[in-house]
Amino acid sequence: MTLRPQNSSDLLIDGKLVPGSQGSFPILNPATEQVIGHAADAGPDDMDAAIDSARRAFDTTGWSRDHALRARCLRQLRDALLTHSDEFRALTTEEVGAPAFLTGGPQFEGPVRDLGYFADLAENYEWTRDLGRAEPMGIPNLREIRHEAAGVVGAITPWNFPHQINFAKIGPALAAGCTVVLKPAPDTPWAAALVGKVIAEETDFPPGVINIVTSSDHSLGEQLVADPRVDIVSFTGSTATGRKVMAAATQNLTKVFLELGGKSAFIVLDDADLNGACSMAAFNVVTHAGQGCAITTRLLVPREKLAEAIAATGKAMAGLKADDPSKPGTICGPLISAAQRERVEGYLELAVEEGGTIECGGGRPADKEKGFFIEPTLISGLDNSARVAQEEIFGPVLVILPHDGDDDAIRIANDSPYGLSGMVYGSDEARVNHVVDSVRTGTMGVNGGIWYAADVPFGGYKHSGIGREMGVAGFEEYLETKSVAKPA
Ligand code: NAD
Repeated sequence: MTLRPQNSSDLLIDGKLVPGSQGSFPILNPATEQVIGHAADAGPDDMDAAIDSARRAFDTTGWSRDHALRARCLRQLRDALLTHSDEFRALTTEEVGAPAFLTGGPQFEGPVRDLGYFADLAENYEWTRDLGRAEPMGIPNLREIRHEAAGVVGAITPWNFPHQINFAKIGPALAAGCTVVLKPAPDTPWAAALVGKVIAEETDFPPGVINIVTSSDHSLGEQLVADPRVDIVSFTGSTATGRKVMAAATQNLTKVFLELGGKSAFIVLDDADLNGACSMAAFNVVTHAGQGCAITTRLLVPREKLAEAIAATGKAMAGLKADDPSKPGTICGPLISAAQRERVEGYLELAVEEGGTIECGGGRPADKEKGFFIEPTLISGLDNSARVAQEEIFGPVLVILPHDGDDDAIRIANDSPYGLSGMVYGSDEARVNHVVDSVRTGTMGVNGGIWYAADVPFGGYKHSGIGREMGVAGFEEYLETKSVAKPA
């Protein structure tokens, strides 16, 4: 079976593949600007039908109580997707502009394999916990805690790592016994819709348990958030949209789970291997053209080593040129869209207006006539109060800043509205640990350490979000807790 749609991909509603009531909309390859195909364009009635079917599947079927069925369906989906891996990986590079090497990891195969972790949780989680006997008000009682699925999940996702983020929501939500309506970003509808096709044609998921609604219209996201039949909104996207989602959810007191933006710091201590650290910082920020919320976009180096660090980082970034993402060696592909490229270019102009120096890159690569490429760009000469050091740019753009010792580096790292991720390089364990303990952020790497894995909770402090995705903590976001007592 080939996944690429002849005409348009479909919606998945109530177990059926159906066209969008608004027709279809084109999808661009961001590396070539060519239309690669079309996706179903849902309207409000389609979204209404999807929510209705998720509600019905939750309220009237045994899905939420059948742990074995859920584990089986999730493993079946993982195995079916892996049989299509070559095609999915190629389509992900075409649709998302994701460098090919990433599709063997977090851009496709990694999160697909992680479905097995969530299937294991469905089977092995301690659904009921015995609290034993107690005598409240002198009356003996036996108590227990039961964990139950929280209900219908409205999952809203961005375009940058679409498979990773879609599966990090679908996987734990379905494993927990919830039913789901997934609304992916308009830029990357196929990543979700073609998974919907595999679900409909190659798995035993009962109708309505998972619904996938692609649309060119962001307002379908608003509709999903505001609908009283939705119990949890699980949102990943920008902090600005996250605020709107949270505000809209107040109407029905819907629980919100938010994974938002970041401006994470890469801290180099004075006893670190400076060259190794700068190479890693360069690699990190150019990967997928910097379109990752957890990418470290501020490089904090000892003031006395600033010139040396600028030279090393600039050289490494200039060597990682923006290129065709389908080439095996490409690390930096294109940005997702013309709009995103304009946004990044606006920040590059702003950096110069703010008094910064462009050490390498600074604009579109001269050798690319098509594609939304931006050269890896290093900015120096600013302090942390500059807007380019405070705001999320979402491009291959690194701001290098001097620090005056470990506590100053911690101060600068924390002088941010965000708190998503970070990295520290140093050779003294106590000093490194002091930094790890002091930076207010949801994840930290040490000397190049990679925390990304199915069992590692991921999420942000401050404006980077509320709640955790992945791991047991991420699974528990989709559960309710019921306390039960009976006379002893
Ligand atoms: P976005 O906020 O513009 O859109 C995200 C999703 O929200 C899309 O599906 C969009 O259609 C939908 N949406 C837009 N307006 C809405 C509204 N008012 N109500 C409900 N839904 C609405 O984000 P984007 O541009 O697609 O993605 C980039 C952003 O995502 C960056 O800020 C990045 O940091 C963030 N991000 C965060 C994480 C994380 O885990 N913390 C991961 C990836 C991306």
